[in-house]
Amino acid sequence: MFENKDTTRTAISTLGEFGLIDHLTKHFKIEQKTTVLGIGDDAAILDFNTKKQVVVTTDLLVEGVHFDLSYMPLKHLGYKAVMVNLSDVYAMNASASQITISIAVSNRFPVEALEELYAGIQAAASTYKVDVIGGDTTSSNAGLVISITAIGQVDADKVTRRDTAKEGDLLVVSGDLGAAYLGLQVLERERQVFKVNPNAQPDLEQYTYLVERQLKPEARKDVIALLEELEVVPTSMIDISDGLSSEVLHICKQSKIGCNLYEDKIPLDPQVINTCEEFNMDSTTIALSGGEDYELLFTIKQEDFLKVKANPHLSVIGHMTKESEGVHLITRANTKIPLIARGWNALEEDD
Ligand code: ADP
Ligand code: MG
Repeated sequence: MFENKDTTRTAISTLGEFGLIDHLTKHFKIEQKTTVLGIGDDAAILDFNTKKQVVVTTDLLVEGVHFDLSYMPLKHLGYKAVMVNLSDVYAMNASASQITISIAVSNRFPVEALEELYAGIQAAASTYKVDVIGGDTTSSNAGLVISITAIGQVDADKVTRRDTAKEGDLLVVSGDLGAAYLGLQVLERERQVFKVNPNAQPDLEQYTYLVERQLKPEARKDVIALLEELEVVPTSMIDISDGLSSEVLHICKQSKIGCNLYEDKIPLDPQVINTCEEFNMDSTTIALSGGEDYELLFTIKQEDFLKVKANPHLSVIGHMTKESEGVHLITRANTKIPLIARGWNALEEDD
């Protein structure tokens, strides 16, 4: 993870809007051939002189709604904000090439805080090889607002939509599920302990994976490369931002099909299993409803099964059925229960 840095406080007003933009963006380098002109003019110039299709996606993150700065350091927030967007590009089976960053910021934030935010953005952009080509900067009366737009490219015959899964296809997920939500629970618990006893030393050692998944998620660019290498073009794909059940239901609804999802196939990290026991939570519920995993959920043709079988990054967790059969979880006890979309909020209300 990132290291913390002690900072002094310089008011944003000392730089002015243009000085601030220049200060924050001067280290960004252009690396993509498709970027003709980056930051500095009225608009960036891109040249996609290919047969590929261009994908565009935007996310808006609002302080107090999507993130809480009391446990999310700004550098991590910048990194995560980029990941959330790149994950959407990869979910189209596309490669990401450019992003724009727009921020609304109150004078509660010193220049040094924005430097941290941009250090995280820059780390993400350089690791994932995307160019930061522009954005907008404005003031806000209260919290911090960040909007990122990401641009990518994909061959027309490889693009993966949500509405193209077919009956009989297999349902596959990358990585493992539930850790990011539990990471947030761990951080929240530490914060409560700290409120009561400010001298308490946080003990996060047995939760490192969970906390990392919450604070520093990685978009699965590697899975897009893996699919290419395996010569698998998913019949549909979505990224897991709201939780597995919600995303399965999106694919089913938009593709007009049903699904049987097998509880015993859902991939869980040992830290998720242990922490669920400790917190007295059901790991399946956490995997289904936790959210923020940023894994990829996709369907493949049955004939591609051997290509993904036994791959350590991929788990086959179900199969698609007729729409009339509905969307069900087949439990370990072999009972069939209807899957419902329980997003992040629903889960919190239950606690
Ligand atoms: P305009 O007045 O035309 O909107 P700005 O002064 O807002 O121009 O922006 C100047 C340049 O800096 C533009 O290239 C813009 O895309 C870029 N830019 C502005 N704010 C940001 C930001 N927060 N992050 C990255 N680039 C930015
Ligand atoms: Mg502007």
